[in-house]
Amino acid sequence: MPFVTISSERCKGCGLCVDVCPKKVLALSTGVLNQKGFHPAEAARPQDCIGCAFCGLMCPDVCIKVEK
Ligand code: SF4
Ligand code: SF4
Repeated sequence: MPFVTISSERCKGCGLCVDVCPKKVLALSTGVLNQKGFHPAEAARPQDCIGCAFCGLMCPDVCIKVEK
């Protein structure tokens, strides 16, 4: 099953990965702030990931790793 790993400390909470995911797997965390003061992206519905890697391609800070 494909899954994503997000480097939450490097994430700047821009939401581009959330918008590009065709399966709505990702969401910005509401309860977590990273050391930069941003709400990082997280896999809110990891079971729906199809491994397309759009999120990893879209992230400007290369925070997302997709594995199959
Ligand atoms: S690999 Fe594709 S389906 Fe999985 S979280 Fe990224 S954009 Fe969404
Ligand atoms: S695109 Fe990258 S920096 Fe932006 S919210 Fe997603 S993981 Fe964070």
